Amino acid sequence: MASKGDFHTHSTASDGVLSPAELVDLAASQGVRYHALTDHDSTEGIAEARAAAARHAGYTLIPGVEMGTDIEGAEVHMLGLCLSPDDEELQVLLRRLRAGRVGRGFGIVEKLRGLGIMITWERVQEIAGEASVGRPHIAQALVEGGYVPKVADAFDRWIGRNGPAYVERDKMTPAESVRCIVERGGMACLAHPADLHDLDALLAELTAAGMAAMEVFYKDYATETVERLRQTAERHGLLPLGGSDYHGIFGNDEPLPGNIPLPDSAIERFLDAAARLPNRDLVR
Ligand SMILES: [Zn+2]
Ligand SMILES: [Zn+2]
Repeated sequence: MASKGDFHTHSTASDGVLSPAELVDLAASQGVRYHALTDHDSTEGIAEARAAAARHAGYTLIPGVEMGTDIEGAEVHMLGLCLSPDDEELQVLLRRLRAGRVGRGFGIVEKLRGLGIMITWERVQEIAGEASVGRPHIAQALVEGGYVPKVADAFDRWIGRNGPAYVERDKMTPAESVRCIVERGGMACLAHPADLHDLDALLAELTAAGMAAMEVFYKDYATETVERLRQTAERHGLLPLGGSDYHGIFGNDEPLPGNIPLPDSAIERFLDAAARLPNRDLVR
């Protein structure tokens, strides 16, 4: 079951529980030899992961990121593999993605205040603490203020998709993220695609934008799902990759890094493709 590759993991640089160094040590101890660190909208963990990687013989760290993008009615996550954290243009884009979440929260609070719901942005930030502000924090402020009895009511009444105080994120489309990843010399890989509607149409658009890979061997996908996605990837000329999406927060059922059915042949195909990337020197 365990694979020598894992192309999707998270550390404390986003919402994972292990520090980048602890994550690298864990992956290496599981026999992972090709390991991508892909934190949400951030490459802040790469430097520490690289330093830890140097302690493990035969282990290769692939610097990456997982970008949150939007299509009508759904979120699409795009993995960018072989990206340099020292790339200033990449950092500008990641800051924009991170700020989108803050800007949205602030916009929702402003709209609520316009509707006479006088919660404050300061209080919402306090509730969020270290975490990046999301709608659940605003919902909590609404409960606290006595405007709704429960968090779920806040979504139903005010801040859900059809609510009067709903604000869209500052959107980046998946195709935009693909073009950025390719322009920055890396490889774009669609993350956990099983539940996306009209996948074939989306893949046609994203391969045209330069996407080269798709997650097939993902965490807990059933055998039939893996087989369906493997055929879909083949049909679109995409490399079949995969990862554990390890966060360390889902309890004992969460597969450890490398505990995915990713075959050696997929790793070899990735290495061949990576050797032709502008950023090929980053895979080491
Ligand atoms: Zn994701
Ligand atoms: Zn993830």
